[in-house]
Amino acid sequence: MNILVLNCGSSSLKFQLIDSATEAVLAKGICERIGIDGVLTYTPQGGDKEETKKSMPTHTEAIRFVLEALTDEKTGVIRSLSEVGAVGHRVVHGGESFTESVLIDAKVKRAIEDCSELAPLHNPANLIGINACEELMPGTPMAAVFDTAFHQTMPPKAYLYGLPYRYYEDYKLRRYGFHGTSHSYVSKRAAQILEKPYDELKIIVCHLGNGASLSAVKNGECVDTSMGLTPLQGLIMGTRSGDIDPSAVEFIADKENTDIAGVMKILNKESGVYGMSKGLSSDFRDLWKGAEAGDVYAKEAIETFCYNVAKYIGAYAAAMNGVDAVVFTAGVGENDYRVREQVCGYLGYLETKIDVEANKARGEETVISTPDSKVTLLVVPTNEELAIARETLRLVK
Ligand code: ADP
Repeated sequence: MNILVLNCGSSSLKFQLIDSATEAVLAKGICERIGIDGVLTYTPQGGDKEETKKSMPTHTEAIRFVLEALTDEKTGVIRSLSEVGAVGHRVVHGGESFTESVLIDAKVKRAIEDCSELAPLHNPANLIGINACEELMPGTPMAAVFDTAFHQTMPPKAYLYGLPYRYYEDYKLRRYGFHGTSHSYVSKRAAQILEKPYDELKIIVCHLGNGASLSAVKNGECVDTSMGLTPLQGLIMGTRSGDIDPSAVEFIADKENTDIAGVMKILNKESGVYGMSKGLSSDFRDLWKGAEAGDVYAKEAIETFCYNVAKYIGAYAAAMNGVDAVVFTAGVGENDYRVREQVCGYLGYLETKIDVEANKARGEETVISTPDSKVTLLVVPTNEELAIARETLRLVK
């Protein structure tokens, strides 16, 4: 069965058409600048990438262009839309309503809408994508795969904040965590690579991309994660601050003469390693280039990022009373051996030894620790689209 995986952001839409039998990606691409002008980038399997400017006032037009590209006579990969057996939607926030993926019906759509308060930029876009597919491909089953669902096994001591309890009861204000599809996929792959039962392992997953989060997975269940009510909490990221003293919000507002919305923009878009490097870049490739050329801000940004990751690893080793494996994934985690080396440099107390040569691997499943290391260190490339396709297939079967 061919499964269309859709990831609708506020102004973009990523897609992949996956053949569930072979797990091959038949075509993939992205629509960007939705609501502004519109660009479709489309790559069929074995073919060339093509970029076309198209008017996309809303996600509905964007999805229509994606379906046209997939069925195009020359560059399409299917003859008609009847060859799409199901659609899997990435949905950012499932609140406490969703502990796993579900088939979409009217009730599920209402529940996703109810969670919009918790993710005002993302959930409405996800819903628009769902509605557009209903309109354009009526009758095709659709699944919602939530970014938060994997973390719903966290106990109250991990998800409660030190705030009046009423806020949790009345407003559902708590830690949720994100990147769940990735944490789930990567921790399961790690267990397979280690050839040990998933439900007998203590695994720390370091998802280090532009957005970054850690999770502690004990006996096959997430017991803690670094992102919170929103993806702003936790690690220092590309442009997000991660953890700061909440009083800094008032302090920045006063000093920079702005309001809460202004400070939130600063914390989400102008902070992280980007802000720390005085705007050099949020991309670690640029930061390393800067650091090599003597840019002290870039060097410090990288050092602070790695120290931050190492501290969270320590916290999660404590939370699980030990750790069997630390796994690196996402853009930085998969590709940046120098970041991995710096982070692992802090883990000597866990009797962890990195294999410097093996660690040079990029973007492939690799054990990067020495055979005598007490904790196994691994690189496992994440594949959220494949994980969504598998979930969708499981539900429609
Ligand atoms: P997201 O999905 O959150 O946008 P990704 O997981 O794709 O992010 O990660 C993107 C980031 O990965 C880039 O900003 C960059 O910092 C980092 N990255 C990608 N390739 C490399 C590389 N070869 N070396 C170092 N960092 C890299």
